Amino acid sequence: MSATPKTALTIAGSDSGGGAGIQADLRTFFACGVHGMTAITAVTVQNSLGVQGFSEVPVDVVTAQIRAVAGDMGVDAAKTGMLATAEIIHAVAETLDEVHIGRHHETPFVVDPVAASMHGDPLLREEALEAIRTELLPRATLVTPNLDEVRLLTGVAVTDTGSQREAADALLEFGSQWVLVKGGHMYDNPECVDLLSDGVQYVELKGPRHDVEHTHGGGDTLASAITASLAKDLGVPDAVSAGKRFIERSVAEAYPLGQGIGPVSPFW
Ligand code: PLP
Repeated sequence: MSATPKTALTIAGSDSGGGAGIQADLRTFFACGVHGMTAITAVTVQNSLGVQGFSEVPVDVVTAQIRAVAGDMGVDAAKTGMLATAEIIHAVAETLDEVHIGRHHETPFVVDPVAASMHGDPLLREEALEAIRTELLPRATLVTPNLDEVRLLTGVAVTDTGSQREAADALLEFGSQWVLVKGGHMYDNPECVDLLSDGVQYVELKGPRHDVEHTHGGGDTLASAITASLAKDLGVPDAVSAGKRFIERSVAEAYPLGQGIGPVSPFW
C-alpha cells in the first residue's frame, strides 16, 4: 500500500475532446503526483475544431460535489476553470467559504478566469464576469488570466511588459493575493514573459516561445500544475515557477489530433 497523496480539486467544465477543462486538469494532477478530484460545472460538446455548445450542471449538484470531497478526502489545494454562469460562481464562492478553501483559509485556491476557448467560443455567460471580479477574486490565492481575460476583467490592453504591470496592479485591486498575467499571447515577443505579483514583488518569469500550433488546454494545464504544487505545500512563487516549467514541456510535447488544434501534452 502507498502513502496517501496530496489532493487537488478542480471546479471546471468537461471537454468531450479530452484536451482542456476537467480532462486536462486530471491528467496534469496525475502527472504532478497528486490525487485529482472534480466538481463538474458544465458539459461542453467539443472537439479539436471548437466548442459546439454546453450545458450547465445544476447548481446544487456543483456545490454537492465540492462538499462531498472536502468533507471526506480533504482538499490540499483547489482551482476553478470554466464556471459558465453567475449563479454557479455565486454558489461556488459560498461553498468554498463553508469548506474553508481560499486565501483567507489554509487551503490555497487558484482562479483561472476562463471566458472563451481559443477558437473564440464563449464558455462564460457575459453577466458572469462581474461575479468573477466581486466573488471569486477576493477569495483567490492566485488568479491566472491570459491577455484576453485580463482585458475583459480590468479593461487594460496589454501590449508590452509596461502595460503588463499596469494590468497586474488593476487586477490586484479586486482582492486576490497574487496575480499571474500570462504573456504567452504577446506574439511579437520572442520569449513568453509572465508577470507574477502580490503588489510588493513583481517577478518576471521568462521562457522560450515554442512555435507550435497545438496549444489546446494550455491555460488549464498551467493552472492545474500550479495548483498541484500548492497542494504539495510550495509557496506561490515556487509553485508558479514549477508550473511554468511544466507547461513549457507540455507545449513542446503537444500533438496533432483531429482536424483542428491538438492538445498540449503532460505525458512525459
Ligand atoms: N473547454 C473547457 C471545458 C475549458 O475549460 C477550456 C479552457 O479553460 C477550453 C475548452 C478552452 O481551451 P483552449 O482555449 O485551450 O482551447
